[in-house]
Amino acid sequence: MDDLRAAIGHDGLTLHYQPVVELGTGRIEGVEALVRWNHPTRGFIMPDEFIPLAEEAGLISELGLWVLRTAVKQLRAWIDAALVDSSFSVRINISATDLQSLQFIEDVRNTLQETGVKPEQVVLELTEVAIVKGNELDRYSLGGLRGLGVGIEIDDFGTGYSSISYLRRLPVDRVKVDRSLISGLETDPNQPALVAAVLQLVRACGLEAVWEGVETAEQAEILRGLGCQSAQGYYFSRPVPPEQIPELLPDQQESANQ
Ligand code: C2E
Ligand code: MG
Ligand code: MG
Repeated sequence: MDDLRAAIGHDGLTLHYQPVVELGTGRIEGVEALVRWNHPTRGFIMPDEFIPLAEEAGLISELGLWVLRTAVKQLRAWIDAALVDSSFSVRINISATDLQSLQFIEDVRNTLQETGVKPEQVVLELTEVAIVKGNELDRYSLGGLRGLGVGIEIDDFGTGYSSISYLRRLPVDRVKVDRSLISGLETDPNQPALVAAVLQLVRACGLEAVWEGVETAEQAEILRGLGCQSAQGYYFSRPVPPEQIPELLPDQQESANQ
């Protein structure tokens, strides 16, 4: 655990970024920041393994702040390098604990101010469980974050307590549909109709959906055919270190080819 504490304080963590792609055009509309722990002897440790440890050890707020600042600064660097425009967004996963802390709203405000990044270019992802289990304070925090102008997205949608009524009430803009919903898309004949129904439900609530876990061209094609707007998954790109993002952006490729 001291390892993890040291990692957070001393550059032992690193962020990888996975593109979110507009299905109609193939354009990369943004990236999701995904944290890895670069352990001196064990190599990269994935977040599912150490986020729960960080929660238990009371380190999650520190970790969350590091991720927030690192990801928004990275976006600033890409903007400054003219690699991305003002429609490009960075998505950041935040924990239920972050949502419980009023300091977090201040941290987001300060980070935006320091970097001069526009709030609409930052989207905070929260799991369904964190939001639905949430209390009045969470509701208040969500409202506060939204008041700053950042986007709020429900992550892993469809795995938790998918109640239809709360979708309409919460101050969120988007949902990211869990990959379990598209895993059988090419093989199960009923799955496309289910995806279409979920899409309709999400849109009826005034929201838009990002489809997570697209691994094959067929899945991407079916989603596009159903009118889905954006998707993310290994088919488009695995999460990559920030240095590799420019290679994925078309403008950069053009200038690199010259
Ligand atoms: P998530 O936010 O739902 O992130 C998506 C996870 O799915 C990532 O795993 C990503 O690498 C993986 N993935 C992406 N495309 C595909 C695909 O096509 N197929 C499959 N099978 N998997 C795909 P990762 O990076 O291991 O992250 C796991 C979870 O850890 C994340 O789920 C998120 O809940 C959490 N997490 C990651 N970074 C952070 C962070 O900075 N802060 C917090 N609080 N949680 C984080
Ligand atoms: Mg996420
Ligand atoms: Mg997810």
